[in-house]
Amino acid sequence: MDKKRKIIPIFVPHIGCKNNCIFCNQKRITGRINPKIDSNYVNTIVNDYLKTMEEDIIKEIAFFGGSFTAINIDMQKELLNSAYKFKNNGVINNIRISTRPDAINNEILELQKKYGVDIIELGIQSLDEDVLNTAKRGHSIDDCKKASKLIKEYEFILGHQIMPGLPKSNKNKDVKTCRESVLMKPKIARIYPTLVIKDTELEQMYNEGMYEPLNISEAVDICAEIYSIYKSNDINVIRIGLQNTENINLDNDVVAGPFHPAFRQLVEEKIFLNILIKALTENKISNSIVTIKANEKLFSKIIGQKRNNIKLIKTKFKLKKVEIVDWDVKNQLMLFNDNKNISHIMVDDAYTNYVKTCIG
Ligand code: SF4
Repeated sequence: MDKKRKIIPIFVPHIGCKNNCIFCNQKRITGRINPKIDSNYVNTIVNDYLKTMEEDIIKEIAFFGGSFTAINIDMQKELLNSAYKFKNNGVINNIRISTRPDAINNEILELQKKYGVDIIELGIQSLDEDVLNTAKRGHSIDDCKKASKLIKEYEFILGHQIMPGLPKSNKNKDVKTCRESVLMKPKIARIYPTLVIKDTELEQMYNEGMYEPLNISEAVDICAEIYSIYKSNDINVIRIGLQNTENINLDNDVVAGPFHPAFRQLVEEKIFLNILIKALTENKISNSIVTIKANEKLFSKIIGQKRNNIKLIKTKFKLKKVEIVDWDVKNQLMLFNDNKNISHIMVDDAYTNYVKTCIG
């Protein structure tokens, strides 16, 4: 069985970043304003986290926020050195950083190697030049490709972060971004649908009527396709949607956009709804009792929030009743119609099928 993995997040807000992307107020996203960033900062955070962590898990130090490899070299060395000591002593297993595609070159990667960095996540956001320019990202598609290639050549684990719903983007461009990201062979991905955050240029554009964010249902629709493309290419999607924090919520820093505290759940349940609809349609089911056998862990995805999936298939197929029963087998579903087995589904195939449905 895979070991549990816990991240020790170390926020390095905006230091090192000369950019001002229209959607970013990094100080707010990280939830901390101007902490003193040095080795003590790293040591204190790591030691505090370690006190609360179980022994037998994979522990990872992650430098989030800002653009880590654009920080001045001395500070990078100081922060990495602190992290590396924990790794060298066997206290933590991995170190990860996140950065911009144009802040990657041989010298930078050699430094990360020397200090034991394992994972490098690139904020590529979009692979459409017009979208990148409008977002004032300050880097090109070519930078994303070159940086991804170099990171892989140095044998780091490559991660991609993408942002559906940026100004001048649309579903086609967002899906194309994902497909082109897949070609660069990241091992992990994060999908952050664009939110309008307070005190950003995007907020100004939104207030002036120059930008309309995706609504929740549009964002779920795009992210379900993107998520399924990544999953069916064996890329581990480690996050969908910004995390609900003290500042990131609709009463605080999020001015507008598809924010939902359980966004990933919404995406998963859309994919499971697709599985159910496909199976019931193919078997021409109507006016009968349907039983779904699945592992308890899948129940919430199958049922949906507020039982939405069940209500929807009940109405669409005029079902008399939908039952769901526990099955001691992982990642598979069995569907019965009036006690007759009509479908046996592997969850992994569901992602490939979802992509096919979107294309079709
Ligand atoms: S590069 Fe990253 S940290 Fe810098 S402004 Fe853009 S999103 Fe924010």
